[in-house]
Amino acid sequence: MKPLTCDDLLAYLSSYLDGELDEELSAAAREHLATCRHCQVVLDSTRRVILLGEGQRQRRIPAARRGALFERLRAALDAPDN
Ligand SMILES: [Zn+2]
Repeated sequence: MKPLTCDDLLAYLSSYLDGELDEELSAAAREHLATCRHCQVVLDSTRRVILLGEGQRQRRIPAARRGALFERLRAALDAPDN
């Protein structure tokens, strides 16, 4: 299986956090995360947001809201540095 790109990783991130990826994909995701600082940061902030949501009343962030979050993160990744 070829290495994941950042785009792939973001697409799978939600399932990865939910533990819903199959063995192969989740290994590929871990491999990408081990080497990609960018995605580590995204994973960290996503995890924090989800935990924050769990600390409040919601047990889970609704898929739609998570989708919006990923869109924002993706836009941030695509944005030029300056
Ligand atoms: Zn990456």
